[in-house]
Parts: sequence; C-alpha cells; structure tokens
Amino acid sequence: MAEDSDPRPAQLEDAHARLKTVFERLDVAEDVRVRLAQPALSLQVGIPVRMDDGQLRVFTGWRVQYGTIRGPAKGGVRFHPAVTADEVSTLSFWMAIKCAVAGLPYGGGKGGVRVDPKCLSRGELERLSRGYMRAIADVVGPDRDIPAPDVNTNPTIMGWMADEYANIVRRHDLAVITGKPLELGGSRGRVESTGRGALQVLDLWAQREGREAARTTVAVQGFGNAGYHFARLAHQAGYRIVALSDSKGGIHAPDGLDPEPIWAHKHERRKLNDAVYCEDSVVGGHDCAREISNEELLALEVDVLVLAALEDQIDERNAGEVRAGLILEIANGPVTSKADAILAQRGIAVLPDVLSNCGGVIVSYFEWIQNRSGDYWDEDCVNLRLSKRLEAEATAVMDLAAVESVSFRDAAYLHGVGRIADAQSQRGTCRDFSTG
Ligand code: GLU
Repeated sequence: MAEDSDPRPAQLEDAHARLKTVFERLDVAEDVRVRLAQPALSLQVGIPVRMDDGQLRVFTGWRVQYGTIRGPAKGGVRFHPAVTADEVSTLSFWMAIKCAVAGLPYGGGKGGVRVDPKCLSRGELERLSRGYMRAIADVVGPDRDIPAPDVNTNPTIMGWMADEYANIVRRHDLAVITGKPLELGGSRGRVESTGRGALQVLDLWAQREGREAARTTVAVQGFGNAGYHFARLAHQAGYRIVALSDSKGGIHAPDGLDPEPIWAHKHERRKLNDAVYCEDSVVGGHDCAREISNEELLALEVDVLVLAALEDQIDERNAGEVRAGLILEIANGPVTSKADAILAQRGIAVLPDVLSNCGGVIVSYFEWIQNRSGDYWDEDCVNLRLSKRLEAEATAVMDLAAVESVSFRDAAYLHGVGRIADAQSQRGTCRDFSTG
C-alpha cells in the first residue's frame, strides 16, 4: 500500500475505478498498483502577476507528474477558472495511460492555472504564462517533464513559456515544451493533430463496422481547437455534421453543417483586435440551423456523439438520455465511470479519450524529436507517421476488445497499463526482491 497518502480525492478516485478490470485481468506486480495509486510529484505554486491597473494578483497553479516509469512526464497546461489540484492530478493520470497506449517513451504530466484567461489582457496573459513557467522551471525539462497546450492554451502561450524557459536556463532548449508556434520550433501538423487522430480512430471503427461516412450523422459538443479540426476533417471525409456547440450554446441542422464558415464567424472579431481568444460563438454563425442547448445536443438521436469539451459531461444522471450509437471522446474524461456502466448496459460503445485524442501527444512527441535532432519534417511526413502509429495502436486496442470481450476503454487500459507494467518489471518488482 502507498504510505502516508491522503484520502484520494473524488475525480482521481473515479479515474482509478477504470483500473479495476485491468488489474483483474492483468497479472501485474503489487509495485505497479502502488505506483499508479498516486502522483510521483505534485507542485502547487502561487504566480504573482502585475495587472494592467497596477495591482498585483497571485494566481494558483499546479504541475503534477503522475509517473515517469516509461520516460519523462508529458502533458498539457490548462487555464480555467475551475481548475483544482484533484483535476490536474486526474488529468496527469490519464496522460500516463494515454502515452503508454500510444507507445510513446513518456510518463504522464499535467499543469493548470486557476484563472479565467478570457478576462485578461494580452499583456496580462503573457505575464501569467511566463510567471507559470518561472514557477515550475525547476521540475520541467526535455528529459524531465514536457508541457504542451490544453484547454485555453495555444501555440502563442507555449511560445511565451518556451522563451521564458530559455531566459531561465540561458540557452535554447526548445524540447522543453511542445505545441509551439512553427517559427519557434513547433511541428507542422501539431495544431490539427488531435482532431485528425480522432477522425482516424472513428474511421477505423467505421471500417470494422462496415459503416459508410456519408450515412453517419455526427453531433459535436465543444468547438475549440480539437473539436473544430475534427469537425472540419470529418465533414471533408463525408460524415454529416448535424450539430455543434460551444460554451455559449449549440446549433442543430439535420441536413448537415459545414464547420469552416462557422469557425470563421466565431473568430472574426479575434482577427480584428488581435486577441488570443475569440469572443463569438457557433450560435449565430449559421442561418439555417436551429439553436439548441447543450443538454439537447447530448440527447440527439445521431450515430456518433463527439465529446470535445470538458470532463464529466455524461454522468449517471444523463447517461440514460444519450441516444447516439457511439460516443467518441476527444476531451479528456468526458464520461464518468458510473456512466460507463450505464452506457455499456444500453449498448452504446465508447471510443475512449486515451485512444481517441492521443493524436495530439503523438505529434507533440514528433515535435520533441525534431527539436532534439534539428531535422524538421514536412506536413505529409508528420501526418503519415501519425497515421501509421495510430493505425497500429488503435487496431491493437480494437482487436483486444474483441478477443477479451471488453469495452474499448478496458481494452485501451489493458494495452497501456500492460506496457507500464512491463517497464516496471524490467526494473525489478517485489516478485524479484521478495525474501518471503
Ligand atoms: N493536452 C493534450 C492532451 O491532453 C496534449 C498533451 C501533449 O501534447 O503533451 O493529450
């Protein structure tokens, strides 16, 4: 057992529930269970920021390294007013599983700052981003922990953080952070990689089910970077996108929507004032669509419901209302473990986050390789390598689900945790050292 640990908080507790089936089926040493029970490092920081009006505000932030059994910690940083320590730990746990599912030489990490970034000026946002990097600089690095974008953070913010890190260590060390702007060592294809990867996982599922894109209706909750690129590419591939939503509301058009003009409308004002965030919404971006609420979108009768917003969107209270045939998780943790059971009972399959959204971290890995080698790849090369890796890993997960008669989520966890357990075994476990 882990010693002296605090009682585990609720969100992480729920995430750990997913390990139950895995531990029942995999013969893992106790060492693996113990190491997966809590984060390896959890740092809370206060970040002082001089606001434009002269006041000093201190924002709370975190960096959590869940585990480094398979390599340095890896994972994004989110800026959100509701971020908690429990949430960041949970997200870092999912990153550890995800990196293992994708076969990347990384453990899991995550960061967060409790702030509503849309209320900050561009200058305040830059000072906060640089301040966050200063606060965590001692625990990150290309061989230690490599942050990246997540909810409400983007290449501009990664660029500020990378620049701040270079100022601190007094050398260019681009591989400390991924998801940077191209001009500052970013990788081609990184911005759309999460959406691109999710579409590939969906395509693979559709192929195996003998389902045609043109006959498949899709509703997308969440129209941020990942949701938009998924919707754009899925529309191009012939899927019928019938509904979209963001934090301000949703739209429904049974005949189908083209996501590109809606995105352009949402970002129009951003171009005018050079802000980091857009001010508009999908609502109002389309003449022929009916406005719907978020709850209505989640309950639409569609073939595929894509969850690309935040955690805990489908829980035990609304899982009974979902009328989609399949859920594709692009956000991290949008379905709770209690909802998993209800959906399974109702025959609704879920393509889980740790597989469906791993395209982002795969291309982050490619960025890290390019930074370290100094050899930069063209976009076709990035997309081809992404597609090869995803095809192999997603096929392995789907095959495992069929062979073991388990859900895609359980299969992904078996695949990922199996790899973590193998790495631990190579180092030696209680089985090698036991004197009993
Ligand atoms: N934030 C993304 C995720 O949850 C990307 C992480 C990364 O690229 O390191 O997978």
